[in-house]
Amino acid sequence: MKNKGRKYACVDTCFLQGVDGVIATIEISILPGLPNVEVVGLCDSSIRESKERVRSAIRHCGYEFPKGRIIISLSPAYLHKSGSSFDLPMALGILIASGQVYQATNRCIAYGEISLQGEIHTIPGSIPRLMALKDYHEGLRLIPNEESEQARLLEVGVSCVRSLSEAIHAIGKDDPIPCMPPLCVLPGTDTADTGNDSSGDEDISSEQVLDYSCLRGQDAASRAILLSACGFHNMILIGSPGTGKTMAARIIRGILPPMTLEEKLDWLRIESTVSLLDSNMIMERERPFRYVHHTCTASALAGGGRPPIPGELSRALHGVLFLDEMAEFNPRVLDLLRQPLETKEIVISRNGSVSTFPADFLLVGAMNPCRCGKLLDSPAECTCSVSTRRNYKNRISGPILDRIDIVTKMKPMNKDTLKETLVSGRHAESPAIRRRIKELWERQYQRCKENQVEPMRNGEVMMIDMASLFRINDTTMDYAIYAGNQLNVSARGMKHILRVARTVADWDEEQDVNEEHVMEALQYRMNTEEFTYA
Ligand SMILES: [Zn+2]
Repeated sequence: MKNKGRKYACVDTCFLQGVDGVIATIEISILPGLPNVEVVGLCDSSIRESKERVRSAIRHCGYEFPKGRIIISLSPAYLHKSGSSFDLPMALGILIASGQVYQATNRCIAYGEISLQGEIHTIPGSIPRLMALKDYHEGLRLIPNEESEQARLLEVGVSCVRSLSEAIHAIGKDDPIPCMPPLCVLPGTDTADTGNDSSGDEDISSEQVLDYSCLRGQDAASRAILLSACGFHNMILIGSPGTGKTMAARIIRGILPPMTLEEKLDWLRIESTVSLLDSNMIMERERPFRYVHHTCTASALAGGGRPPIPGELSRALHGVLFLDEMAEFNPRVLDLLRQPLETKEIVISRNGSVSTFPADFLLVGAMNPCRCGKLLDSPAECTCSVSTRRNYKNRISGPILDRIDIVTKMKPMNKDTLKETLVSGRHAESPAIRRRIKELWERQYQRCKENQVEPMRNGEVMMIDMASLFRINDTTMDYAIYAGNQLNVSARGMKHILRVARTVADWDEEQDVNEEHVMEALQYRMNTEEFTYA
């Protein structure tokens, strides 16, 4: 838009609000008066700093920074804005308003941080911004070149620019949108067809991911791990130091099926608000694995800061959240898990604003059986008093334990099996297991659909009619209730038993849940009860 006499310009932009991209408009007006740049519209100091970068970049590109009183207004004004992504639209707006640059299209949208020499860089939040750009149909869309791969993944038609000069060139052309071909094939993620995409499943667990065969000798734990992955059951591993609890958690990640494209985009949306994405992260097919140390603070776990960014709970989206030394966590921090384990999201309210982040993950906790760690393997050597043991266990509150389906014990590795697992050339078992688990997930989703329930895995089923969904007949249900009563299992504990029993039946390829399945599920519950009330 040419503005002879009336020194005014309007450029759209997009900024990050929580984990969503919001379209905003920047208006620039150059008025007569003493040279001054004023930015208005509820923005913080990071945006006010922009003007110095913009001034330098404009001069470096051979243009003049206009004299007079420049007013830059950002709307919607009721949303708090921050970050350096406003640099590019501000620079373009100033150049258009001062009549130095001709804008061929009616409107355009642009964002990106500008260096003093006029190079354009990306900042965190690329995926949410690009998602918002998908709905922008007014005109030209300019983004930093570093986001080109993400734009192709999301199939957004954009013009990628490396510098302010390139951006100026793009807006001056009548037909400026070189739409890039979409990056339609994300290797390893399955799109609509789920039938024959075992392609590439083999190479995934070759290097970084530990193989299931490393669990040789841990009969009870290896079975529990299979069931946990198969039904997406939250679990706790109890064992002395050095029994391989962390290794076991990493193995679970390796046997979970690869993310679907939808899950992948979900995760990228969160991850891109915390860090800058590189190509590896975009092409990565593994589910995330977040290792959380017990010194983790509440805001690092749940998310926080200003503006709020997601924490570990959200960064583990669709993957594994591993809490090491769970009993050593600050109980207040640990209690933050209660809400996401129930609702799969976390709500953070800070400074008057409320942000909701997704938090859907498989919780795997590890802990020692007691403070000295010897209670399970050599009880005689345990130096903890009865009250110390009780206090140690009580650090994990009842409400958290109520959301854990499986508790299993790990044994110290026997020397012969240790040698066996360390000898090279053993056959990798994870790929086959992973394929099987993928099939079993499909079966669980299918069962939900047949019962007109939203598709979910066994471990995610809450308080709906479990007997009919899980195909538990009256006899088996009576048995479960009888056995549960004998063993003092609480009513809530029964829910876990039925869920795990269904997964055991799935793994054994049985249509109906029978008494044997219930018995096995009771074992995992007994571990919990024994562990909690010992
Ligand atoms: Zn002890």
